[in-house]
Amino acid sequence: MSAAPLSGRCLCGGVRFVATPEKMTMDACHCSMCRRWGGGPAMTVFCTDVQFEDESAVGVYVSSEWAERGFCKTCGSSLFWRTHDQKMFTVSAHAFDNPEQFPFEVEIYIDQKPANYAFANDTKKMTGAEVEAMFAGASGAPDQ
Ligand SMILES: [Zn+2]
Ligand SMILES: [Zn+2]
Repeated sequence: MSAAPLSGRCLCGGVRFVATPEKMTMDACHCSMCRRWGGGPAMTVFCTDVQFEDESAVGVYVSSEWAERGFCKTCGSSLFWRTHDQKMFTVSAHAFDNPEQFPFEVEIYIDQKPANYAFANDTKKMTGAEVEAMFAGASGAPDQ
């Protein structure tokens, strides 16, 4: 069940988008790539239809064989992670205009979380191996 399309933007406003969440929930990824990329765990929302007002303002970094990460070419905001085929598309929860509408549901790659922080939210926690098993056979690995 999809939610309604929601708007968001990067820090400078150079990238504006409208995206339709697959579910009105937020997940966090503790993997080392997400933490390097975003300066902390990536907090994201799975989305289906993601439309950018100006595609040319969006930079795309190919971070692995199956996935890529998007950012604002001007301010550098971390905006999305998606598989190359775009079948899996997650958008930064806090790029949306109202991130409080997404309850925090799942933490993935909990086995890669460093010991110097921990969220107090009551979430489902999954290791990288559990996440990869869940997505085995799907279009791509869920992260990296
Ligand atoms: Zn920007
Ligand atoms: Zn990650």
